[in-house]
Amino acid sequence: GFYAIEGVDGCGKSGMVGYLVDLLRGRGQEVIATREPGGTPQGEAIRALILSGQDDAWDPHSELLLMTAARVEHVRRVITPALARGAAVVSDRYVGSTIAYQGAGRGMAEDLIRGLHRDVVGDVWPDLTIILDLDPEIGLARSRNRLSASAIDEGRFETLDLAFHRRIRQSFLDQATRDPARHIVVDASGTPDDVRARVASALAGTTGA
Ligand code: C5P
Repeated sequence: GFYAIEGVDGCGKSGMVGYLVDLLRGRGQEVIATREPGGTPQGEAIRALILSGQDDAWDPHSELLLMTAARVEHVRRVITPALARGAAVVSDRYVGSTIAYQGAGRGMAEDLIRGLHRDVVGDVWPDLTIILDLDPEIGLARSRNRLSASAIDEGRFETLDLAFHRRIRQSFLDQATRDPARHIVVDASGTPDDVRARVASALAGTTGA
């Protein structure tokens, strides 16, 4: 299956990717872990282009096109081949983040984002998206502690305000509400152990996962 993990900055996605990968591997499955923007050399180059600048370095339309270009490479070179050979894919962010950040965050119409995805990426949507839901204020505080080590994302990150991140959180919740069969929302507050336990029990309630 194809799993995406989404949430506001600082929600604990990367740790959860590792947890989910271990869980699936423990069932004897081949699993690849990947991320967006990124996942290929082309995508990582685009990631550096977008994230090294200030948050207004790109017009929102250009940003959407860059994110989508990274996804084309990611899907064609990594995700589709992996799924075709029967491997599971766990992606740290996917199109849900584009709907949240470039859509709710930066004002691009959701129809444009979904239409572009369908037209240039193809009909490749996650079987299950796990949304780690967290108050962005908590996420920002968590990220700030960590960010000193990661200069590349910092310039962009620090200039975005809380209202922006609240729109991101709400967009993820709305996406889950509109398509509940393909989303689970997990409370991401508390310790990593707390969150892992919630994810494990939410997954136990889904078919095939
Ligand atoms: O999830 P990760 O920490 O790797 O994301 C890095 C940054 O990329 C986040 O701070 C987020 O603001 C940004 N991002 C974005 N639009 C996306 C995906 C990520 O602005 N579609």
